[in-house]
Amino acid sequence: MRVSNCSVSFWQEAVDLLSDICGPAHVLTDTDILYSYGQDETLGLNFGFDILVKPGTAEEVAAIVKTCNELRIPITPRGGGSGVTGGALPIQGGVVVSLERLNKIIRIDEINGYVVAESGVITAELCEQVEQHGLYFPVQPSSKAYSFIGGNVAENAGSIHSCRYGTTAQYVLNLEVVLPTGAIIWTGANVPKNATGLNLTPLFVGSEGVLGIITKVVYRLIRRPEHEVTLLAGFETMEAACNAVLAIKQASISPAAVELIGQEALHLTAAYLNRTLPLVKEGIKAHLLIGLQEVTESALLHAMEKTGSVLEKYTTEPILAGTTALEKEQLWKLRFSIGAALSGKGKTYRDIDISIPLSLLYQYITKVEEIAASYHLAVACFGHALDGNLHTMIMLEQHMGPQAEAKAAEAVKNIYAYAIANGGVISGEHGIGMLQKEFMEVQFSEDHLALSRSIKRLLDPRDILNPGKIF
Ligand SMILES: Cc1cc2nc3c(=O)[nH]c(=O)nc-3n(C[C@H](O)[C@H](O)[C@H](O)COP(=O)(O)OP(=O)(O)OC[C@H]3O[C@@H](n4cnc5c(N)ncnc54)[C@H](O)[C@@H]3O)c2cc1C
Repeated sequence: MRVSNCSVSFWQEAVDLLSDICGPAHVLTDTDILYSYGQDETLGLNFGFDILVKPGTAEEVAAIVKTCNELRIPITPRGGGSGVTGGALPIQGGVVVSLERLNKIIRIDEINGYVVAESGVITAELCEQVEQHGLYFPVQPSSKAYSFIGGNVAENAGSIHSCRYGTTAQYVLNLEVVLPTGAIIWTGANVPKNATGLNLTPLFVGSEGVLGIITKVVYRLIRRPEHEVTLLAGFETMEAACNAVLAIKQASISPAAVELIGQEALHLTAAYLNRTLPLVKEGIKAHLLIGLQEVTESALLHAMEKTGSVLEKYTTEPILAGTTALEKEQLWKLRFSIGAALSGKGKTYRDIDISIPLSLLYQYITKVEEIAASYHLAVACFGHALDGNLHTMIMLEQHMGPQAEAKAAEAVKNIYAYAIANGGVISGEHGIGMLQKEFMEVQFSEDHLALSRSIKRLLDPRDILNPGKIF
């Protein structure tokens, strides 16, 4: 049975049952409210659905899932709705479970170095709270002001700091998960070493809400290196910027961030911010924004000298250093405004989040530009250069219409084919969701996909949890 076939009385019964679980105030059917939960940050898409539920505890989540399972109602788990591949879009209608009321930080354990929090805690809130205890959670996606920690785990989110600190996966010690049957499990333990039985934690990290609903997260925490500086270097060619990234990798420097910003992205961002930005000038084709973090001042000075001497081989432009909080903030603002600059002024864009072997960084960018140009499309390039995880945005404008969108789709296919043939993956951090699903067959063998699908069937035989996503 699928939702569209169901009668009004069926839905009224579902509303009554869910209201008994969460209280009527947390079960919503008002069309205007549902509209804002029918979308995320993906290409202006919006899907209608039937009931929005906002549980307040894991037990309520479990009871909701059990009820929907019995009634065979599709469920879409939703975090902060900042996803860009449509993972939280309720494409088959039914129930959206918003985790926004599971927003408590339960414990920050300073001695053992972990935090236990409900999955609806906003990322920035968690980061601030742990820092007040002298601890640090380094994987802070640029969407941290509104993404939830459960959403980050579900997407295995990355950040500008992933080149040094890794992605979300490297910090998850343990998860409380509601399975599609309504059972509640803990996947691991709150200890850094654990060789006890099958390790179920990684199964749920990056599972995009198709295997279970994460209700609590235990993150390992580290100490924050206190001394930091931000460097900005401009390059006359993209090739020089990419070669500088490779040279940084070869040198024994471990930067906390190395972000590449291509000319197109930089100029659009400068216009968007409407202010004179350093090094935004003719002849500069690419920038590197580099974050250094060290535990002592002398170590930081050493890292700065080493980085400076590497960069000077590839650029004659002065290298700017932001040392005060304000200077650093202004430099990073450049990077963090790119998304808004690209999507502002009625522009829409298609986000490509490929991860490729670092040695192919420049070839990859050149190939993307070549493919985009062959379809008469503009492309803006920026991203996590030292990870090989670039965001190349195919720029579309709303007036361009469906023909341009079709061309962009063709261009994306060719770009993905190139990346996969050269050892890359179609997503470094944004996931598959609904948008990238069609490319899974290019990425994986039929046997690989069959195994993934059988894991899904084992956990969710009725296919009620986030159906139609990933595979
Ligand atoms: C401006 C901007 C900047 C961004 N920067 C980054 C970045 O730096 N790094 C990065 O990795 N991504 C980035 N993203 C993408 C996005 O923010 C991340 O994917 C983020 O982790 C999604 O979290 P969310 O809470 O918003 O999840 P949602 O969008 O609500 O959901 C994402 C997926 O997770 C599932 N899900 C959500 N919560 C749960 C749960 N509790 N249990 C099970 N499944 C769940 C949903 O069903 C969906 O499939 C950015 C997006 C924007 C718009």
